[in-house]
Amino acid sequence: MLLQTDKKKIEGIIISLPLVHPFKTSFGEEWEKKAIIIRVKKGDFVGWGEVVASQYPLYNEETISSAVSALKEFIFPLAMECDFKPECFDREVSIFKGNRMAKAGVSLALWDLKGKMEGKSLSSLYGGRRKRIPAGVSIGIQKTVDSLLKRISSFWEEGYLRIKLKIAPGWEVQVLEKVRETFPHVPIGVDANSAFTLDDFDLLASLDKFDLLFMEQPLYNDDLYFHSRLKKKIKSPIALDESITSARKLEEAFLMDSFSVINIKVGRMGGVREVLRAASFGKKHGIPFFCGGMLETGIGRAHNLHIASLPPFVLPADISQTSRYYSEDITPEFKFSSPGYINVPRGDGIGVEVFEDRVEKKSILRFFPE
Ligand SMILES: [Mg+2]
Repeated sequence: MLLQTDKKKIEGIIISLPLVHPFKTSFGEEWEKKAIIIRVKKGDFVGWGEVVASQYPLYNEETISSAVSALKEFIFPLAMECDFKPECFDREVSIFKGNRMAKAGVSLALWDLKGKMEGKSLSSLYGGRRKRIPAGVSIGIQKTVDSLLKRISSFWEEGYLRIKLKIAPGWEVQVLEKVRETFPHVPIGVDANSAFTLDDFDLLASLDKFDLLFMEQPLYNDDLYFHSRLKKKIKSPIALDESITSARKLEEAFLMDSFSVINIKVGRMGGVREVLRAASFGKKHGIPFFCGGMLETGIGRAHNLHIASLPPFVLPADISQTSRYYSEDITPEFKFSSPGYINVPRGDGIGVEVFEDRVEKKSILRFFPE
């Protein structure tokens, strides 16, 4: 039986942050960002994590509500049974199927706690090498092509090293023609968030002429096989995102020759252990990774910077400056240290201060283990 005081040592806090610009993908439009922040406490130390589930199950099957129930009912209690040790948690939590974003939020908080208790940065705990991370930016679908061109131009001038454009049926060839006319040399990748089908192979092949850095998850969100078929028919390198839900899936996709580069998101993969396994596989086989983004608050962003310091993350990450998303975040702003680069925080754990008063102010619900 858990004591009430023990139950307060781990909590979830749903916060809401207004976005500076709405973010539109092939799924829909977001104006405010709701996030679940995880806070764990041991002695004088506090660890922070973030669950990247959205309100609707459009990216994957998880939602904020599904994550809240999973956290309260079985993920928080397991973290307590593991005495908040991340290695124990990451190992034991794999008994629960799915719920990867919810699991990852707690995994990250426990790793932050460990880093703070041992006086080490997460990057050094993970075996990271990079001190600064090359930054790219992901631009959602805009109302008009003109407004897209303006946004590309302003991000390019800010110094981002590559631009990723969301595409969807009807927002591809003609848009990219205009983009390439205006920006013939800007490094551009596209992300379809699984919006195309087997009937679209010719259309997708016609995007080869735009000299894309990569084409991310053009087909079904859980697919590896048809991506391997598509890979033989197009020249643009295929990047996989949604369908790489574990290190084992990465290995399967590699054996099936389904991709050229990989977008890694700790939330999608269920926690730190899975990412470290994927990174060691990636290193062994020379697979180029980039770190993806899920409109994280400063907490998730700091975690991503540490993950992106691992050896296989050789490509610019979807980790942008804070001003691109929020007017007021819950951590200090992330800014370029030199154009196109963001430093990996140096302090213990995530290495950035969390403004608890802002978390409090933006909080709309708090919950504890049941
Ligand atoms: Mg993606």
